[in-house]
Amino acid sequence: MALLGATGSIGRQTLDVLRREPDSFELVSIAGGTRLAELAEVAREFGVRRVGVARPEDFLAAREILGDGVEVVVGGDGLGELARDADVVVNAVVGFAGLPVTINALEAGRTLALANKESFIAAAPLVARVRDTPGALVLPIDSEHCAIYQCLADSTRSGHPDVRRLLLTASGGPFRGWSRERLATVTRADALQHPTWSMGPKITIDSSTLMNKGLEVLEASALFGVDVGRINVVVHPQSVVHSMVEYVDGSVIAQLSLPDMRLPIAFCLGRPVRFDHAWGAIDFTTALSLTFEPPDLAAFPAIPLAYAAARRGGAAPAWLSAANEVAVAAFLHDAIGWTDIVPIVAAVMDQYDDVHLESVEALVAQDAAARRRATDLIARDR
Ligand code: NDP
Ligand code: MG
Repeated sequence: MALLGATGSIGRQTLDVLRREPDSFELVSIAGGTRLAELAEVAREFGVRRVGVARPEDFLAAREILGDGVEVVVGGDGLGELARDADVVVNAVVGFAGLPVTINALEAGRTLALANKESFIAAAPLVARVRDTPGALVLPIDSEHCAIYQCLADSTRSGHPDVRRLLLTASGGPFRGWSRERLATVTRADALQHPTWSMGPKITIDSSTLMNKGLEVLEASALFGVDVGRINVVVHPQSVVHSMVEYVDGSVIAQLSLPDMRLPIAFCLGRPVRFDHAWGAIDFTTALSLTFEPPDLAAFPAIPLAYAAARRGGAAPAWLSAANEVAVAAFLHDAIGWTDIVPIVAAVMDQYDDVHLESVEALVAQDAAARRRATDLIARDR
């Protein structure tokens, strides 16, 4: 197995699953961004032979801290190399930086356990092609998509003619039920507190704006080959029902479990069998209430923006995700307020002209163009 993004929230939880199932996998390579000491600790514990770091300037320091016998690779090319060289590749990198992992793993016919939704959404038209490589398989770690995968009884493609719609559940984030006026008072600390999940900073902010759910609508459409017109978002604050599939006969199949990402990670790694260990169990012997409500699209316009990007296709989802990455990073650096995040993404999308995506190079150029627009808007408004 290769675990790319090993030092993050999904990466660390994947390591927990491996510690539980020490005989199932050999971890041959890992990668991270800049946290070298943490990478070295993982490399030592699991006897990893190849390690990827993000920046060329960290190469020598990484060699030094990892010691002899461990090969160091660098940057996106390094990530791509590691993704080609393992049977199972976990993409736990955050953001568009995860692109080489997704493309290379699928091109090489590997099993890709996917957490990195941003690159998958941005590259959807290109991913569709490389998924046809013999042996290539995408298994979704994202809890909603893992739930749908289970409700679809293990099939990720083929149009699903007997499915009426996919119902993506959303916790609603920390600001569920807040008015627009109250949302104007949100601070960085408020937005970093998620009610039901503990995750990395970027996705935690995305969950507070519901952009995460918008990205997940695009992710579900690309993963399962279902048009976004057949994907609905349902707010479910308890985060126990992880998503549902409604069939044409009115039957709705749901997957339930406690909110713990180690369960979908273990599901992907164990498949086609289930590991005999429960990451928490729902207690049905005491009263349990599960509630569902529609999302407030006026207070959380990120969701309609994502649907609009899906309908435009081409590079529109890449622009949406790139602009959002820039806006979220600016918010985390206190350069903009919480209520600025989604309007900046919307303003960038207003500048998008339809582009058909033909190659990875074209996608990288589109990503850069959207980032420039977002950066300019933020600089202009300050
Ligand atoms: P974190 O920020 O916690 O971790 C991100 C990981 O990516 C870290 O290991 C980081 O390294 C690494 N990384 C960042 N930039 C680069 C780069 N240029 N090259 C190589 N590695 C890099 O994020 P999460 O674990 O929360 O999220 C990862 C992905 O999973 C995201 O796409 C997210 O949307 C998705 N996801 C996460 C969930 C969760 O519960 N956390 C749930 C569902 C999906 P370093 O530590 O050195 O910075
Ligand atoms: Mg999710």
